[in-house]
Amino acid sequence: MSVTREPTMTEPPDELPTYVEDTISTHADEPDVLAAIRDYAAELYAVADEESPSPDEIAASRNDGTIERFQPGTDGWTYVNRKVTCGDETCKCADGELHGPYWYKVRRDGDGLTWEYVGKEIDGDADADGPAAGD
Ligand SMILES: [Zn+2]
Repeated sequence: MSVTREPTMTEPPDELPTYVEDTISTHADEPDVLAAIRDYAAELYAVADEESPSPDEIAASRNDGTIERFQPGTDGWTYVNRKVTCGDETCKCADGELHGPYWYKVRRDGDGLTWEYVGKEIDGDADADGPAAGD
């Protein structure tokens, strides 16, 4: 006796156009593709949402590392995964071997952006060993 397993289907949000749902569902068993779709949508979202700082704006406001990922939060912050330098010129990071990546959260604050250090994990407690979030 064989058991046929139906794939687990999640109900798509009403706002999702059918053609997008159709396309995404063809990649339902490809986590790498789904992650790429999620990350790309997050970057587009940050641009489309005028309240959120754009990826370009975020990148321009910090030049001491590299940005790995953007992820808009539901709390008004944009979460940014970055590899960073620690500022010590004798450290390996001065030769390009950066620390991290670490999560930071960013939001608009007047004419500028406010950054806060989050930690190694986006939903974990701030890691006391991580770099300071200051300027
Ligand atoms: Zn360093």
